[in-house]
Amino acid sequence: MQCKRVLLTENDIPTAWYNLQADLPEPVPPPLHPATHEPVGPELLTRIFARALIEQEVSRERWIEIPSEVRRLYAIWRPTPLVRAYDLEKALGTPARIYFKDESHSPPGSHKPNTALPQAYYNKQEGILRLSTETGAGQWGSSLAFVCSLLGMQCKVYMVKVSYNHKPYRRSMMQLWGAQVTPSPSDETEAGRQILAADPNCPGSLGIAISEAVEVAMHRDDTNYTLGSVLNHVMLHQSIIGLEAERQFEMIGDWPDVVFGCVGGGSNFAGLVFPLLRHKIAGKRETRFVACEPHSCPSMSRGQYRYDYGDTTKLTPLVKMHTLGHGFVPPGIHAGGLRYHGMAPMVSLAAKLGLVESAAFHQTECFQAARLFAATEGIIPAPETSHAVRGAVAEALRCRETGEEKCILFNLSGHGLCDLGSYDRYLSGDLEDYSYPQEKIEESLAELPQID
Ligand SMILES: *Cc1c(COP(=O)(O)O)cnc(C)c1O
Repeated sequence: MQCKRVLLTENDIPTAWYNLQADLPEPVPPPLHPATHEPVGPELLTRIFARALIEQEVSRERWIEIPSEVRRLYAIWRPTPLVRAYDLEKALGTPARIYFKDESHSPPGSHKPNTALPQAYYNKQEGILRLSTETGAGQWGSSLAFVCSLLGMQCKVYMVKVSYNHKPYRRSMMQLWGAQVTPSPSDETEAGRQILAADPNCPGSLGIAISEAVEVAMHRDDTNYTLGSVLNHVMLHQSIIGLEAERQFEMIGDWPDVVFGCVGGGSNFAGLVFPLLRHKIAGKRETRFVACEPHSCPSMSRGQYRYDYGDTTKLTPLVKMHTLGHGFVPPGIHAGGLRYHGMAPMVSLAAKLGLVESAAFHQTECFQAARLFAATEGIIPAPETSHAVRGAVAEALRCRETGEEKCILFNLSGHGLCDLGSYDRYLSGDLEDYSYPQEKIEESLAELPQID
């Protein structure tokens, strides 16, 4: 029988994360202070982040040991299967081999707990027992709530008010895992009170929720802040995905020619891709890596590689990344996790160096690919993930034309069981495709600080 699921055992959970910073031909440009434009010293960061995480953020060590307690708890959902999508291949009539790494296995249903767990662990080691964060649709908030419950820590989540009201299931998950969830803007913080004074009915935004979560971490000694994507230490923790995949491909004697991952802040893409990319940098493998993003928020394909703020309100340090401008407001597409104006600095640098490429897709073609995937392989992908599915399907169809027997891999970053409302809209034909007008993108890019 041909192998459907390539499975590892608990003993195969990697003992170290892989840090691409050791192998990139150029260093990642440092974050700059938002006011002085000087490199940010660690003093500013230690007020809100664990020391161990700040060290990982700037480390150029190739391998960083995974603490044994983190490995023990990873075993709740890891190693995740590498799956061959035979029935999808058959439906597409392609000679290509299609594999996916199934990160939907974690209890919250995505890759995000891969970093939530070590982030919470290092904070607890340093005596911090309360974490604050923001969440949009609730995927990051539910991942942090889940690991905090495992480690006996408190979790405070500022959830964008519209999502709080319209996405009750992620909120219930967080509450069940013991988190305190507050609709943002709230009257608990100075930032929230200012916004509410100006507009009592403000629906909230990720930028506002970040300001609230950072503010409580700044003002309370017992509380630190956590971020679910973009930062270097998040890319590091997610490398566990690609390290397992590498091992799984070795077991079956195959290797991907082309790899697809969806990109919001870049973490699930980096997690699968970076460990494989090191073989390309070393000149040993010829793999292509494609970051899949929405046409409505095309930071990689139509943004610029520049220093920009991480948030709308210009509170965060400036980081060098592919950006559409901090003032860019993407349309309300259904892949909420892909609506970020910027991109992880490490993914951005890899793209600038020509090591990874990007492709943009419309949401209806993504839902269509996700529907075919669900019909053939059973799993309903998250709307974010559907962009990677679309990338893989398009490549498989190209192989049908050319007859190439390529090996295609994509990251199944999460399931869509809490996003069925979006699928309802797709099924009833209510979804629209947007392409952002070039002049709007240029308007937003004109607001970037002049640093380079
Ligand atoms: C958050 C999320 C994303 C986007 O974030 P990245 O940091 O780009 O990975 C993608 N897929 C799922 C399922 C998510 O929850």
